[in-house]
Amino acid sequence: MILLAAALPAPVLAQRATVKIKVDASRASTRVVLTHSSTVSYQVRETDGRLEVVYATPMRAEPAQSLLDDDILARFEMRGETVLALFTGAAYRSYETFELRNPFRLVIDLEGSRDAGGAGAVDLPQTRRDPSRKIIVIDPGHGGVEKGASGPTGLEEKEVALDLAKRLSQILHNKPGLAVVLTREDDRLVGLDERTAIANYNQADLFLSIHINSSSRPGASGAETYFLSSDATDDAARTLAALENRAAGVTDGSFVTVQGERRDLEVVLWDLAQNQYLAESSVLAENVQIQLNQLTGTRDRGVRQAPFRVLMGATMPAILVEVGFISNHDEEARLRTPAYRNSIAQAMATAVNAFLVDLERLSRPALSGGSGASRP
Ligand SMILES: [Zn+2]
Repeated sequence: MILLAAALPAPVLAQRATVKIKVDASRASTRVVLTHSSTVSYQVRETDGRLEVVYATPMRAEPAQSLLDDDILARFEMRGETVLALFTGAAYRSYETFELRNPFRLVIDLEGSRDAGGAGAVDLPQTRRDPSRKIIVIDPGHGGVEKGASGPTGLEEKEVALDLAKRLSQILHNKPGLAVVLTREDDRLVGLDERTAIANYNQADLFLSIHINSSSRPGASGAETYFLSSDATDDAARTLAALENRAAGVTDGSFVTVQGERRDLEVVLWDLAQNQYLAESSVLAENVQIQLNQLTGTRDRGVRQAPFRVLMGATMPAILVEVGFISNHDEEARLRTPAYRNSIAQAMATAVNAFLVDLERLSRPALSGGSGASRP
């Protein structure tokens, strides 16, 4: 996450509520998070080249102003005591807002085409690109110094995940009207946020993260497919998400309390980006799980939900597949063979193709802009 707003000193005025302003421009859209010291009344309005958050009572902003290196949001400043003005850039198109409680936050997502107008910029589509052409982003887990899990005889998750991703990519490439993007094509470390950012940037129709499971129980076997939820299906799902998240060095320091439980602030925030795709993600997860069950012939470990950091912020159906247990002696031996790797890739390709057919039948949410006026 890139926080562009530098903290500038502001005068201390005891009576006023304060708003802390954070801007994240590391994704396809620019997200402004306004964290308030208390619940406040406000309205959002759009006027000539800027969005204004108009507060009902005086507000102290931290920082009071900031110049940003971003084509969607150029700068912001507090005007007078009650108006926060967000000056949009050439790439800005529309906005959406939502609120979060405890603490009271207003989140403003500024949609746009980040490269519009830039020198040598890629000509990005202004609206969603040709829907008949599908883009699949395949994400091989881990990489570089981060090896992921390893088997009893030393097979490494990062190597198997990359090889499976390449095999799956090759199968899908042969299908007309389909484009495949890999988040990494060699043995290197890619940040979790960067992985979904690649998918968002490419306006992918589907994000599929490939991993290999590990258990302290040597007999554990079979595939598991996950989609995002801040509530894990069970303790095992929660533990797995924690392991995958920790492996990538996810540490944020900010927490919120939801129903008495401490949660990572970003879990709650980015979870909302996936919310509108949960139905599609669960259909995709079911498809993959069915295929992998048929392949492995093992009992159904099932589709599960867990707060995987890599799925957060993806603005398309997104799943994480644990194709088998590298910790299981037999599964590790099978995972070493090209034949077994091919069958796993084939099973996932069959599931993806089935999902793309399903996708045509599922209604897609449309991006709406300019409807952000709100008064809590
Ligand atoms: Zn993993």
